[in-house]
Amino acid sequence: KLGNETAKAALGRATWKLMHTVTLRFPEHPTADEREALKSYFHLTSRLYPCGECATEFQQLLKKFPPQTSSRRAASLWLCRVHNEVNLRLKKPEYDCANLSTEYDCGCGDDPLNTTS
Ligand code: FAD
Repeated sequence: KLGNETAKAALGRATWKLMHTVTLRFPEHPTADEREALKSYFHLTSRLYPCGECATEFQQLLKKFPPQTSSRRAASLWLCRVHNEVNLRLKKPEYDCANLSTEYDCGCGDDPLNTTS
C-alpha cells in the first residue's frame, strides 16, 4: 500500500537531525563505554526505526559501513557518508560534509569540528 510520504519525510528529517547532532557533540576522545554507547545507538535505531523499508536499508548500511566511533570527527564524517548513501539511493543531491559543523551548530558552545584532536 501507499505510505504517507509526507510523514515519512518528516520522520526522516527529524531522525537525521538528531543523529547528526549526536555525532557532532560526541566526545573528541571517547571512552570505550562511550564508543560502545554510540555503536549501540545506531544499531538500536536501525532496529526500532518505524519505517520498515528504511530500517532494513539502514541495517544493511550498518553492515557495509560499520559505525566509526573513535572520535567526534570520525563519527560525524561516517554518518555524513552513510546519509549520502541514502541520498544516492533516493536520488537526492550529495551533501558536502565540510558543511557539517555550521549546519548542526546546536548553540551549545564550541565549534564541533574545529579542534586539534
Ligand atoms: P534529508 O535527507 O532528510 O536531510 C535533511 C537535511 O540534512 C538536508 O536538508 C540537509 O540540510 C542535511 N543533509 C543532507 N544530506 C546530509 C548528509 N549526508 N550529512 C549531513 N547532513 C545532510 N525515505 C524513503 O523514502 N525511503 C527509505 O528507504 C528511507 N530510508 C531512510 C533511512 C534512514 C536511516 C533515515 C534516517 C531516513 C530514511 N528515509 C527514507 C528518509 C529520507 O532519508 C529523508 O529523510 C526524507 O526523504 C526527507 O528528505 P529531505 O530531502 O528533506 O532531506
